[in-house]
Amino acid sequence: MNPRLRRELDGIPTYKPGRPPAVEDGVTAYKLSSNENPYPPLPGVLEAVTAAAGSFNRYPDMACTALQAELADRFAVPVEHIATGTGSVGVAQQLLQATSGPGDEVVYAWRSFEAYPIITRISGASAVPVPLDAEETHDLDAMADAISERTRLVFVCNPNNPTGTVVRRAALERFLDRVPSDVLVVLDEAYKEFIRDPEVPDGVEVYRDRPNVAVLRTFSKAYGLAGLRVGFAIAHEPVAAALRKTAVPFGVSQLAQDAAVASLRAEEALLDRVDALVAERVRVYEALTAQGWTVPVTQANFVWLRLGEHTTDFAARCESAGVSVRPFAGEGVRITIGETGANDVLLRTAEAFRKEL
Ligand code: PMP
Repeated sequence: MNPRLRRELDGIPTYKPGRPPAVEDGVTAYKLSSNENPYPPLPGVLEAVTAAAGSFNRYPDMACTALQAELADRFAVPVEHIATGTGSVGVAQQLLQATSGPGDEVVYAWRSFEAYPIITRISGASAVPVPLDAEETHDLDAMADAISERTRLVFVCNPNNPTGTVVRRAALERFLDRVPSDVLVVLDEAYKEFIRDPEVPDGVEVYRDRPNVAVLRTFSKAYGLAGLRVGFAIAHEPVAAALRKTAVPFGVSQLAQDAAVASLRAEEALLDRVDALVAERVRVYEALTAQGWTVPVTQANFVWLRLGEHTTDFAARCESAGVSVRPFAGEGVRITIGETGANDVLLRTAEAFRKEL
């Protein structure tokens, strides 16, 4: 007889990471499938991790003291409101462990970040996905309607992965006013630094007066530390304290902690890089639109093409041109904004594909 495993695990889709590009002779390969940052670590980061590497016979600082202090200072919040974890997906999983279990419900927009259904079902809670509206944006009225007595947590992904669309201030405030105060709303702002729309609120401002709001941020995207696994939440004390209880002990390595601190201190270089990526995003968006594609306005470091039945063909064509993208079969393709050369290959491929449609 096999060991008994939890029923909840049956049928949980496994997380599909973005594929690395196939490497072919004579073709430069680019990975535009995981919303990573194409730039190398920020100034000072390699020095910090090299210094930390000499001590990895020791456990890291479990409380992430220096990083939490730096974050508290940066966001002008009490240090007790900061909770760090193994990437923001790790912190999201902790939030579920802290709030939700069998019999409970978790509401999120769909399609959105593919980890939401997975981590929800691992927790034992039921997933309540609410379809995006015709503009590929969160339908906040429908999401508020979907909240029941059983709801414990709601994810709002802003900007939304994979569509890049945003929820604006007035709509978010209206929604939050409708959410019962005992339901935790998680504002997942993994792509926050790329937002240029002034109507999109900063979650950290929203959370201040709302004890049932938590903000999720990460060092994986704009800061370029995806491989080191460090993210954090800003939340009021009971929630942040629950996150400390549900954390994997010593989950955030000393390398990750020191790299995150060094990255926070390299703000100027960070802003330059993010500006450059935003400029590339605008260029890619405008070029795709000029080619005749319908592209939702994106505030993230990726664009979304709703290709429907052409999705896998398009992804295969990109792959042969040396660019891996992230297809969601039958729905569409998410394309990360990469280095200029990668974006050029993508645009040429999209143009040729479009002409054949
Ligand atoms: N939230 C969103 C919306 C994401 O797209 C991602 C990464 N794909 C994450 C969270 C998790 O990122 P990480 O765990 O690397 O912080």
